[in-house]
Amino acid sequence: MNIILIAVDTLRADHLGCYGYHRATSPYIDAFAAESVLFESHISAAIPTHPAFTTINTGQHSITHGIVAHGGQRAIPRTAPWLPQLLGKAGFTTCAVDNLSQWHLDFHRGYEFYIDPTQRRALSINADNREINRRVLPWLEQHHAEQFYLFVHYWDPHTPYLPPRAYRKLFYDGDPCDRANTTLDGLDRHPLGEVWRETWFPQLGANITDANYIESLYDAEIRYCDEGVGALLEAVDRLGLRDDTLVVLTGDHGEMMYRHGIFFDHHGLYEGNLHVPLIMRCPGVTPGRVRELSSHEDLAPTLLDLSGVAVPEAMEGLSLVPWLRDETDAPTRPHLVCEECTWQMKWALRTRTHKFILARQPDVYGTPTRELYDLTTDPQELHNLAPDQPGLVWELETILEGWIRTKMEQNGLAEDPLTAHGLTLGKGRN
Ligand SMILES: [Zn+2]
Repeated sequence: MNIILIAVDTLRADHLGCYGYHRATSPYIDAFAAESVLFESHISAAIPTHPAFTTINTGQHSITHGIVAHGGQRAIPRTAPWLPQLLGKAGFTTCAVDNLSQWHLDFHRGYEFYIDPTQRRALSINADNREINRRVLPWLEQHHAEQFYLFVHYWDPHTPYLPPRAYRKLFYDGDPCDRANTTLDGLDRHPLGEVWRETWFPQLGANITDANYIESLYDAEIRYCDEGVGALLEAVDRLGLRDDTLVVLTGDHGEMMYRHGIFFDHHGLYEGNLHVPLIMRCPGVTPGRVRELSSHEDLAPTLLDLSGVAVPEAMEGLSLVPWLRDETDAPTRPHLVCEECTWQMKWALRTRTHKFILARQPDVYGTPTRELYDLTTDPQELHNLAPDQPGLVWELETILEGWIRTKMEQNGLAEDPLTAHGLTLGKGRN
């Protein structure tokens, strides 16, 4: 069996049709999801990009692999298990079409072929899906007779949202410069607000005032990227690979639009950032949906299990194969621990119904250091229940601190890894 892992950077689950979105952002992904098993509650437990992809490749929580923040100086331990390396040793021809290694060489580890579409210019997060497919499709044609593992990293939904002009009014028919519109008020408190007003928004027109317009451009980028995913899936069919190829689609982390005062970025441990798609089309597996909590640390164990490769003990995630095959109704886990240490220094405990967020440092928005949300009645996390439910806060905080202490002991850490590491991008702003 071959494996294709598609990661769309910055793709939140709830902006896809197959996850219930009201806009037609994802016709190709939706059709693919209808033939697949869709994990409804898949969580990126360590955000953003650098921790998330390290978790995907190691099957470990960030407290164990040590990459707790984006752009941290620490290298991924050479002793950590590494998915492409394990698949390569098991006989897969391994290929990545990706540019993460431009800032961290760790990310080309284990690949026989590492194709960087942006190699000839400075690191660009604007690598266009067509540019990426121009590298992916010829490689696939050349190597499809081998047993392969192919990792494809698309970037379109990442800021700045500047889709091709034909896509810019797909989901918007208002006046983006309406002076009465106040939805972008507060952008100046955002760590990147000034940069965007100077470099990104002017490319869209003078004096943009409507945050909904910017959000519609995020959706347009998803639609544009969806076509790239469609072209890749079409090549899989054309080359006769469908019946022998596992295709997995996910996002490294999501994106905040402007609720909670966080504009168009991936910081804050809210569902917009943590809830990402996981869709797996596996030969011989009946399509369906899994409601149980899953995490990026489950991806590597699951792919190894499906490939018949022993899952290293050092991987902490679960193989999701019993849920994928609908062989169990058991819960995967009672809760997940999430963290970020890039713009903000926070931990979160995500249960099946609630989220408790604990800040080790106050954030730039003046958010309380303890937040509690009931995700069943308040999926947008707009009503902080912490002041009214001190008993539940105490209970969840005890579980969270206990988990952190246990993991610190297991990993020989003397200090909470977030406070020991410090913020990488938010320094001096608190
Ligand atoms: Zn990312």
